[in-house]
Amino acid sequence: MSAVHTTCAYCGVGCGVEVPGRGDRSVRVKGLASHPANGGRLCVKGTHLGDTLPLKDRLLYPSIDGRDTDWDTAVELIAGRLQVALDEYGPDSIGFYLSGQLLTEDYYVANKLAKGFLGTANVDTNSRLCMSSAVAAHTRAFGEDLVPGNYDDLEQADLVVLVGSNLAWAHPVLFQRLQNARQHNPHKQLIVIDPRRTETAEAADLHLPLKPGTDGRLLNGLLAWLADRNQIDRAYIDTHTQGFDDTLAQAREHAGTDLPQLAEDCGLRLADVQSFFNTFAATEKTVTAWSMGINQSRSGVDKSQTIINLHLATGRIGKPGAAPFSITGQPNAMGGREVGGLANQLAAHRDFAPENVDAVEQFWQAKRMARQPGLKAVDLFRAAAEGRIKVLWILATNPLASMPDAPLVKKALERVETVIVSDVVQHTDTVAYADIVLPALAWGEKDGTVTNSERCLSRQRGFLIPPGQAKPDWWALARVGQSLGHTEAFAYERAADVFREHARLSTLNTDSHRQFNLTGLDSLTPADYDNLQPVQWPLSDDGEPTPRLFSDGRFATPDGKARFIPVTPEEPTESTDRLRLNTGRIRDQWHSMTRTGFAPRLTQHRRDFTLAMHPIDADRLGIAADALVRVHNEQGRFLARADLTDTVQPGQLFAPMHWNQTFASEGGVAQVIPPKVDPLAGQPESKHALVDVEPV
Ligand code: SF4
Repeated sequence: MSAVHTTCAYCGVGCGVEVPGRGDRSVRVKGLASHPANGGRLCVKGTHLGDTLPLKDRLLYPSIDGRDTDWDTAVELIAGRLQVALDEYGPDSIGFYLSGQLLTEDYYVANKLAKGFLGTANVDTNSRLCMSSAVAAHTRAFGEDLVPGNYDDLEQADLVVLVGSNLAWAHPVLFQRLQNARQHNPHKQLIVIDPRRTETAEAADLHLPLKPGTDGRLLNGLLAWLADRNQIDRAYIDTHTQGFDDTLAQAREHAGTDLPQLAEDCGLRLADVQSFFNTFAATEKTVTAWSMGINQSRSGVDKSQTIINLHLATGRIGKPGAAPFSITGQPNAMGGREVGGLANQLAAHRDFAPENVDAVEQFWQAKRMARQPGLKAVDLFRAAAEGRIKVLWILATNPLASMPDAPLVKKALERVETVIVSDVVQHTDTVAYADIVLPALAWGEKDGTVTNSERCLSRQRGFLIPPGQAKPDWWALARVGQSLGHTEAFAYERAADVFREHARLSTLNTDSHRQFNLTGLDSLTPADYDNLQPVQWPLSDDGEPTPRLFSDGRFATPDGKARFIPVTPEEPTESTDRLRLNTGRIRDQWHSMTRTGFAPRLTQHRRDFTLAMHPIDADRLGIAADALVRVHNEQGRFLARADLTDTVQPGQLFAPMHWNQTFASEGGVAQVIPPKVDPLAGQPESKHALVDVEPV
């Protein structure tokens, strides 16, 4: 039986995976040597994908109020509830909450149903929690949500600066590639900016353990320092950008020009700041990569902008080994962005400008078109808690475990009249609140496409027989669309039909400066789609991929120039008597552990839900190593085991995001994260909560 080539289920690296054959739930997978993202490498999560395929706790049948039913009954009931909500309360009473775990085809149909046929733009995604700050920053600077560089740039750079990224654990194969490149290039430098001494920081040439939230100040300080020493690229700035002088003035005002003072403000040693600035100034081939430490902030957009500003000012963009690089968390956060999975997007990188609404309305032959952006994730659940959302359809995500302010999310799920949850497992924190549960296909069963952090579109291919009555999410959404009377608009027979339509819509962009397009993929036959090889968009008129953007110095703005944006990122609230909780991933678990939590090999890495705290704080609070502690604030509370370590600084804490009510009696970090968001992106500040800790 021939091998199946597919893509890993987990992170935004998007590694290719080879499975020996079809139909076997006990397969050993291996890295796909021909895939450009990983070239055969896999991390431990990818290597043990085969351990997650058994049907333990699997959802097999649709159910209504806890009783199994059939798809016809469930679809009819959902369509009926949607119609009642439309008639009695209007389109804005309906919400969808999607996921970067969905395939692009699922995302596309959900978006089309909601924004084109139910008239609601209340369609948001857990990608809001992941990279929406970077999306907004890209759009402001480049005119479109475009990631300039690629993974090869990380290898080709002579300096890689990682800001707020524990690449070694969150994107392990990229870290492997980086380390391998360092072995071959002894001059290559790695600088890590992170309050914690992570595994990535320990591998760095220089670690800057800055005070939480001061990264924007440090990077603005670097811009001012470079300008004062004529270490910027004036010719590039004059030819390819706008707005530098105002941006520089604001950076100077924010960070000052007194280096010792800047170092003190950021909680860093002066010598380390000098070393960072000198190395950055001297190294033409620099990639600055960032992840959740920047994005999950009250000023995530502005912080992302400080990175982009630096690369525009030095002309280090669009060249081999030179780029600002946002690395996404989830396997298909990028694909969701392509089809308009965010409440402020439409489809094919279009926003809600009237001409875009008209164009998409016409393309879809929409019957009830949303004309304004909808509610972003935190606002969506707040509206639900206030009774303004009557029907909420949640697909492939567990918001009760991942959204900030879990008590508010619980109230929202209790208040919504009809909660529909599409998932693959029976027991999650969120499924417990569902009125209607739909069994979705899991990784290994479903077919479609995902796009990774470097804009590389790859196929996920099914190799297992779907169990019970589990169905693709796009199919369930389309059935509901048809049940509402939109038979033609949702007459998809296979994932390839959805993809072709998405690609066709993208080609309508070619008449403007917008760059996203999938030219040539809009006429794929089902066989072509089956054989589709990884490809980096945008595609040229003759179907050629684009590994690196902006090489010609043209950006996706009307005049082709990039925009500097003056920014003063807001820093988080400090407290002299409370501790600062930081959150993130551990190496071997994924999200709320509905998959990885059942793989024995993966649970060996960290069995307990631990709270990392400095021994000085533990001593002050009378907390012993491994003691059970309660973490609490005005939002809520959770229990964890104390891990006394100097990898966190005094006054700071770290707890992994994976534990939740299913695995920990009082839930996880979501209980105490306040719903503070970036004002532009709506991304929650999941990296910072003020809490108290006490022994239990
Ligand atoms: Fe999967 Fe990410 Fe690991 Fe690659 S690095 S195998 S995509 S989890």
